Amino acid sequence: MKFNYEKNVDVKNTKAYLVGGGIASLSAAVYLIRDGHVPAKNIHILEQSNITGGSMDGNGNPETGYVIRGGRMFDMEAYECIFGIMESIPSITYDNMSIMDEFRAFNKRVHTSGKARLIDNDANIIESSKLGFNREDRMALMDILITTEEALGTKNITDCFPESFFQTNFWFQWTTTFAFEPWHSAVEFKRYLHRFFHELPRISDLSGVRRTEYNQYDSIILPMTEWLKAQGVDFQYDCLVTKLDFKTEETKKTVVGINCNKDKKEEKIVVEDGDFVFVTIGSLTAGADLGSTTTAPKLNDKSVGGDWNLWESIAKESPEFGRPEVFNERVEESMWESFTVTLKDPTMFNKIIEYSGNQPGTGALMTFKESGWFMSIVLHNQPHFMNQPDNVQAFWGYALFPYKEGDFVKKRMIDCTGEEILTELLFHLNFKEDMNKILKTSICIPCIMPFITSQFLTRSKGDRPQVVPECSTNLAFLGQFAEIPDDVVFTVDYSARSAQMAVYKFLQLDKEVTPIYKGQYDARVLINSAKAMFKDDNLRGEIGAIMSMLMK
Ligand SMILES: Cc1cc2nc3c(=O)[nH]c(=O)nc-3n(C[C@H](O)[C@H](O)[C@H](O)COP(=O)(O)OP(=O)(O)OC[C@H]3O[C@@H](n4cnc5c(N)ncnc54)[C@H](O)[C@@H]3O)c2cc1C
Repeated sequence: MKFNYEKNVDVKNTKAYLVGGGIASLSAAVYLIRDGHVPAKNIHILEQSNITGGSMDGNGNPETGYVIRGGRMFDMEAYECIFGIMESIPSITYDNMSIMDEFRAFNKRVHTSGKARLIDNDANIIESSKLGFNREDRMALMDILITTEEALGTKNITDCFPESFFQTNFWFQWTTTFAFEPWHSAVEFKRYLHRFFHELPRISDLSGVRRTEYNQYDSIILPMTEWLKAQGVDFQYDCLVTKLDFKTEETKKTVVGINCNKDKKEEKIVVEDGDFVFVTIGSLTAGADLGSTTTAPKLNDKSVGGDWNLWESIAKESPEFGRPEVFNERVEESMWESFTVTLKDPTMFNKIIEYSGNQPGTGALMTFKESGWFMSIVLHNQPHFMNQPDNVQAFWGYALFPYKEGDFVKKRMIDCTGEEILTELLFHLNFKEDMNKILKTSICIPCIMPFITSQFLTRSKGDRPQVVPECSTNLAFLGQFAEIPDDVVFTVDYSARSAQMAVYKFLQLDKEVTPIYKGQYDARVLINSAKAMFKDDNLRGEIGAIMSMLMK
C-alpha cells in the first residue's frame, strides 16, 4: 500500500464523491488529481441536472435566445485561488494556452473603463468619481472596518450607517458591483470592504474589473469539464442526491452511504473506509426560474431541487452541520432578478455604445440609480457565447429591487414578461423612438433567483458549518454556505477555496491553502483609497488618522 507523504491516506485507492457539479466540485476534482494524485477514475461527480457549472451557466441560440443567470467580474488581486486552478486547465479556444493565459490575453486586449456608471431617471449620465461621503459617513465606514465580527454580530448594514450613506455615489456603485442590499449582514459588508478596499479608487469606472472572453460557462466550466473528463473523472448527470447515511462512533460522524435518485430510480452508493464525500450545500441559484419574452418567471420556494433539501437532512445529524433555515426562509431579503437580451437587429446595441461612450466589453455596469427596480445593465465583449453569430448581440442586466414597481411599466418586476422589462429599460435609456423596432427583433429572458443573496443574510456563528467540521471523519462542505474565515462569499474564489481546504485537509497534504488577499495592510492601498474617500473635500489631515486606525 502506498501512503501519501507517509500519512495515513491511501490516495491510489481513495474514492471521492462530489455532490454537485458547480465550480466548487470541479475545483475539488482538480485539486484531488493535481495536488493529491488521486486517480481520476476514483472521482465521481453527482449532479442533479444534465450539465456541469451550477450557477455558472451560459447557453442558448439566436432563435430561442441566450441566457446567463449571472456574469462574473474578477479582479487581479482578490481571485488567486481560482486563478491557480485556471493555470492548470488547457484552453479549448487557443492552442498551447491555459484558460488563465487566455484570460490574461483577453484582458490585455479589452480593458474595462466605464464612462456611464450611474444614470438618473432622465437618462443623464452622472459624474460619479466623487464618492460623496460626508464626515459622518466616513467615520461610520472607518468604524465598521475596525469593529470585530463578534461585535457586529447579526447587525445589518443599515444598523451601521447614517441615512446619508445610502445616497452616496459610493453606495450606489459598491452595492451594484457586489449586489449588497441595505438589510444584508454588516459582517459580510465589512469583509468585502477589507478584501476589495483597493477597488475604492476605481469603483466609478470599474477599471479594476477583469472578465473572461466569453460567458463563464464557455470560458471556465466547459474547459474544466473537458479536462476532467479526459483525465477519467466519472460524471453522473440527472443524479439527485437525496440523503446521506451516517455511522456515529462516540463524537465522530462518518458517511457510509449516499442515496440518490438517478434517472428517476433510487440508488445507493456505499461509501467505504478511506473514501471522502464533498457536498456543495445550498445554492445561490436554487429554485431559479426562467420566464420568456411573453411570460414572467415563477417565484419558487426552497423545495425545488435538491440544494436545500439535502443540507436540511444532513443538518439534522449534528449541530456542527449548520442551520440552512437561516438562509432559505427569508426569500424577500434574498431574491433578485436578472435578464438576458438577445438582439437580432443592431439598433439598440449601437445606440447604447454611442450613449455610453464605451465599446462592448470596455464599459462598467450601467446603473439606473433612481429606478424603482434599481436596474443595471452591462454590455460584454461580443460574441459573449461561443456559438453566437456576428449579426446577433447579447447583453445582461439585473435589478436589486424586483418587488418594487417600475417607473414606466407600472408593475413589479417579478410580475413582468421579458418584453415589459425591455420596455422599462428602453424608457430609462430614452430610446423611445426605436422602441417598436427593438421590441419586435429582440428576445428578453428574465430569471428570478429566490436565494441569490441568501449568503449575505445576517447570520450567527455556527449557522454555516466549517468546511470540515470537527466531528466529521470523511464529509466536507463546499461552496457559499461553508465557513471560511475572512473570505468574501459571493465569489467563485470562495467556492474554489472551500474545495482546496477540504482536499488538503483530507489528504493531509503538506501544502498551504492559497492565502486570502489582504490589501488593507498594504500602505499603497490605504493611501489610494483614503485619497478616493476624501476626493470631495480637503480634509487630508484626517487621512493619517484613518490609516493608523486601519493598520491596527
Ligand atoms: C447572478 C450571479 C452573479 C454572480 N457574480 C459573481 C461575480 O461577479 N464574481 C464572482 O466571483 N462570483 C459571482 N457569482 C458567484 C459564483 O458564480 C458562485 O459563487 C459559484 O458559481 C458557486 O459555485 P458552487 O459550485 O459553489 O455552487 P453552485 O454553482 O450553486 O453549484 C451547486 C451544484 O450542485 C448541484 N446540486 C445541488 N444539490 C444537489 C443534490 N442534492 N444532488 C445533486 N446535485 C446537487 C446543483 O444543481 C449545482 O449544479 C455570481 C453568481 C450569480 C448567480
